[in-house]
Amino acid sequence: MNTDARVAHPPPEHQADVDCVVVGAGPAGLTAAVYLARFHRSCRVIDAGCSRAAWIPTSHNYPGFPPGISGRALIERLYEQACRYGAEVVRGVVEEIRPHTLGFEVRYDGHGCVARRVILATGIQDSLPAMDDADAAILSGTVRLCAICDGYEVDGHEVAVYGEAESTIGHAVFLRSFTDRVTVIAKPGQPPREEALALVRHYGIRYLEAEVGQVHYRPGEGVEVVTRDGARHRFELLYPNLGARVRSELAQRLGAACDPGGCLQVDDHRQTTVPGLYAIGDVVSGLKQMSIAVGHAAQAATAVHNSLEARPWSRPG
Ligand SMILES: Cc1cc2nc3c(=O)[nH]c(=O)nc-3n(C[C@H](O)[C@H](O)[C@H](O)COP(=O)(O)OP(=O)(O)OC[C@H]3O[C@@H](n4cnc5c(N)ncnc54)[C@H](O)[C@@H]3O)c2cc1C
Repeated sequence: MNTDARVAHPPPEHQADVDCVVVGAGPAGLTAAVYLARFHRSCRVIDAGCSRAAWIPTSHNYPGFPPGISGRALIERLYEQACRYGAEVVRGVVEEIRPHTLGFEVRYDGHGCVARRVILATGIQDSLPAMDDADAAILSGTVRLCAICDGYEVDGHEVAVYGEAESTIGHAVFLRSFTDRVTVIAKPGQPPREEALALVRHYGIRYLEAEVGQVHYRPGEGVEVVTRDGARHRFELLYPNLGARVRSELAQRLGAACDPGGCLQVDDHRQTTVPGLYAIGDVVSGLKQMSIAVGHAAQAATAVHNSLEARPWSRPG
């Protein structure tokens, strides 16, 4: 009799529904599904349908696409690739992940699924100023949320950055590599240190202190920013710098450790501090980029596979 728990197969009534549930079908979650399916692991991806990547008009820094690729097109390709190898992708909102003797029970939309491992790829939700037409403004590239991603395309335009003074000045200095027309609109109440104001002067950045009331998207022209004092300012591009909500609450409820901003802490295999629970992509501490997200996915999926018993391949027939 085989007494090695790693290779012993449990009786059917004690088997999990799937080897791994992946929560989130952005670039991170779908890449994890491609890897898991190609390791012959059963995998269910559960997704609520609001990937940040779907907002990317055209990404020019994602490797392998010289003319660029839209976020939606990239997600569609990853979806097709994951399904081609047998991953199951379903629409749903995961409400809870509970510990289970076989791993975890994942509750979503009235269903339960027992998984031996869970990979969380739930991303973040950007905070935006009050806007009439935020989706259209972002999809047109007029309102932007990632200067690392698309600073290159600023290319001399009139650009504003809005948010808490010090970090917004840092953002503006970053953008000075791409244009000489940068305005900081700093939220009142947290005056920047003198060193930060020295940077503003040194880099020739325009500095306004004002609370933004409303942003109006003007297709083909840019944005009109209306501040609470009633003043109206026109810019070709706007980078809100208002932070984001990290979607880490499912893991936090299981006791997973986070950094002060709410991003999950993981080890070199992308495992959180909860054994068997992995986290990848924007929900993890560090740079929020698709190339990072897919790298995390490769690491986590490989670690999940290696943490489960080997299933010897047998010749068909
Ligand atoms: C406007 C814009 C432009 C960008 N441009 C670039 C670029 O050019 N290059 C680049 O590298 N990066 C770019 N980024 C960043 C990039 O979009 C993110 O780094 C990437 O999408 C992160 O992938 P992810 O899979 O971790 O998260 P996401 O893509 O956000 O996917 C997370 C998924 O999890 C799902 N989810 C969340 N909670 C639940 C739940 N409870 N139950 C079920 N599903 C859930 C969501 O519905 C979503 O589909 C850009 C971002 C924005 C907003």
